[in-house]
Amino acid sequence: TKGGESTYPWDLEKNYTISSVLGQGSFAVVRKCTDKRTNVDYALKIISKDVIKGKEQMLTTELDVLKQVNHPHLVTLHELVETKDNVYIITDLASGGELYSQLEQRGNYTEKDAAHLVEQVLKGVIYLHDHDIVHRDLKPENLLFSDATSPNPKLMITDFGLSKILKHHDDILMTACGTPGYVAPEVLSQKGYSKPCDIWSIGVILYTVLCGYTPFWGHDQAALFNCILKGQYEFDEDYWNHISNEAKDLINKMLTYNPDERITAHDALKHPWFEYAAKLNIDSN
Ligand code: ADP
Ligand code: MG
Repeated sequence: TKGGESTYPWDLEKNYTISSVLGQGSFAVVRKCTDKRTNVDYALKIISKDVIKGKEQMLTTELDVLKQVNHPHLVTLHELVETKDNVYIITDLASGGELYSQLEQRGNYTEKDAAHLVEQVLKGVIYLHDHDIVHRDLKPENLLFSDATSPNPKLMITDFGLSKILKHHDDILMTACGTPGYVAPEVLSQKGYSKPCDIWSIGVILYTVLCGYTPFWGHDQAALFNCILKGQYEFDEDYWNHISNEAKDLINKMLTYNPDERITAHDALKHPWFEYAAKLNIDSN
């Protein structure tokens, strides 16, 4: 550019005011932006083509598909701008931050609150699965609250569709900064994966939000992977004795090792725990 100041392409600057950094992922920087035409705020995800070298076409195709999905619990695509060096993805803004940070602050959630969270995730995943989209990387870092101020904020799934392109098996193994604890065993063992792998991840999320720690653990990544591949977990009495059998039953059905026998998103949402948890009094939990 003429002044050497602008780091954004004209296509983008023409229509958007670009402001503060919202977050940094393993593949992208995410900034807040405002559409000048409507004054609506969005998130701008900047992906360098270097990191997706050879897969640019795949990314664009995938994003064209994602432009057509639209659901209250999915961070949906607004616009896509591509240059020689970068891909700019403009999506719904989720200003409430990650479930991961909330969980870190709160330690854990009551059954009532956890049910409200997981219900929203399941609704988003049902929509994805009905459109034959598998997320594959569901974890508290990829669940964003729409708004920080509301007492009962809406939860939205992000990064769907991208995981397929950005996160191949080797990447999962090598991404030291990522949390691979939510990955299904069939994804790790490369046996082929499909919709059930998302349910496994939601099972890990549900377990984690209820007790404050993950069901699978290892002192290093290899040990963690072995733990997941064994598929064994416990409801340690010290942390789980006050948690309902309904919750544990749903977790067991989501963390069923054989993906063919695992509960589906549709059936999970019909599980009696949701009705049970909704009736719980906050004080008695
Ligand atoms: P990566 O795919 O590289 O991991 P993410 O899409 O997860 O990148 O984005 C990185 C971080 O940026 C997220 O963890 C979150 O903190 C923030 N972020 C991402 N998307 C949004 C959004 N739509 N609204 C607000 N913050 C976001
Ligand atoms: Mg991410």
